[in-house]
Amino acid sequence: MSCAQFISDLKAAVGSGNVLQKDRLQLLDPGFHMKNLAAMTAVLPGSAKEVAAVLEVCAREQVSVVPQGGRTGLAGGAASSPGQILIFADRLNEIHSIDPQGQVADVGAGVRLETLQAAARDHGLSPGIDLAARGSATIGGMIATNAGGNEAFRHGVMRHRVLGLEVVLPTCEILSDLKRVTKVNEGYDLKHLFIGSEGTLGVVTRATVKLEVLDANRATALAACADAEHAVALLSRFQHSHTTALRAAEIMWRNFARTSASALNVSALSAFLDTDAQVFVIIDVVDGGTEGREAFQEELGAAAEAGELQDAIVAGSERERGEIWQVREDSWSIDRAFPHGLWYDVSVPLGALDGYIGQLTARIRQINHELSVFAMGHLGDGNLHLTITAGRPIGELYDAVSHAVYDGLAGIGGSISAEHGVGTEKLSALSAHVAPEKLQLMRTIKRAIDPLNIMNPGKVLAN
Ligand SMILES: Cc1cc2nc3c(=O)[nH]c(=O)nc-3n(C[C@H](O)[C@H](O)[C@H](O)COP(=O)(O)OP(=O)(O)OC[C@H]3O[C@@H](n4cnc5c(N)ncnc54)[C@H](O)[C@@H]3O)c2cc1C
Repeated sequence: MSCAQFISDLKAAVGSGNVLQKDRLQLLDPGFHMKNLAAMTAVLPGSAKEVAAVLEVCAREQVSVVPQGGRTGLAGGAASSPGQILIFADRLNEIHSIDPQGQVADVGAGVRLETLQAAARDHGLSPGIDLAARGSATIGGMIATNAGGNEAFRHGVMRHRVLGLEVVLPTCEILSDLKRVTKVNEGYDLKHLFIGSEGTLGVVTRATVKLEVLDANRATALAACADAEHAVALLSRFQHSHTTALRAAEIMWRNFARTSASALNVSALSAFLDTDAQVFVIIDVVDGGTEGREAFQEELGAAAEAGELQDAIVAGSERERGEIWQVREDSWSIDRAFPHGLWYDVSVPLGALDGYIGQLTARIRQINHELSVFAMGHLGDGNLHLTITAGRPIGELYDAVSHAVYDGLAGIGGSISAEHGVGTEKLSALSAHVAPEKLQLMRTIKRAIDPLNIMNPGKVLAN
């Protein structure tokens, strides 16, 4: 079949205005991977049926596809190459319904997290998941990557938020199972195969998502702790508190917090961060009015008396709260100050945080004394985001650094891949650190669902 005929068939599948080629694609933001738009042809289907029609054309011609949402993924899962077809979720952007009593949202895969948060807020509800890329990340992309974020320690990761899915399989069938209830025992729970599959098993087109009661306003403190062990004790105090309700607990090691605050030029915080404390913790609680705020202050005071924290500042205004959170969420400040770093996203059991960071730093220094470890993350989950950098290209050290980061994690019950996914970035790490039996079963599942290997090939599992 000629290329012109192939494009014409794609246009017949989604409408001629919904096939984008190089001239229009190059005007778009490629997002967080240079190769996201390398395929140079994209389709924008408006329904599961249109996705199925696209897959039929592609399967016939054995052309592979890459689904894309907000292109905020950090593991290279949305990267593409010339000759592939991108499936954009932009037109799958309808909020079909929000059921305030049942606390369920029924949404298209292209709905952005921020849009769903705003729609749920009108009903006093929330999707129970939040991340800094909320303005661009889509529900479909978050399902495909099993996103986590800063509320996961309370409400679970995306896997725990999804009640039902509509997925178009590479064999063009539409699997629609949009349950609106939590308890479903109907044999194998197939939705979990697609959640976290990074577009390798099907295209998510619609989902039912569990909603939580929206927290009231928040009160926020930044606490300085001697080390992670004390930070974990602080976390535990707030988790057990009967007078305050914990919303978020984020951890930053000292060099990360100082570099970020100084890049953001928040002088009040920079002064606070100038201490010998090893780590800083953002504690966000539900603001229960005057009484609640007093209880928050009392809990912080008790934590200071118990030695869990050395010092703390409480945000006195939205601006101050914003500054505290910005220091944590503007993780790119490390890249700006020390470019060419290597990024990692791992999970470490809470009791092992100090040991892990201490040993990691020692191993990294042994590789090259110019290297630094910048660490921060979601304390409640032991989810660390690491940047290892010398401020110059260090590609030749990638293997050694990766071993230093990953070795021993499995033995302590941690994970080499916490919340960003495997994509292309962690292909070799997955095969090196995951049990061969698990990898073999994953390959069997991939072959069974996608016999032609047209769904996002080379992601999660190497070709
Ligand atoms: C500033 C910043 C902060 C972040 N913070 C967090 C965080 O706290 N927690 C966290 O978990 N992640 C975080 N991320 C990573 C990212 O936002 C998430 O991985 C998010 O889930 C990706 O959604 P997306 O719509 O951008 O997906 P994309 O980047 O477009 O795609 C990601 C993967 O999903 C697949 N995919 C996308 N849409 C579909 C679909 N409809 N059907 C099937 N497959 C699909 C793609 O093929 C690709 O493999 C952050 C990213 C940034 C830039």
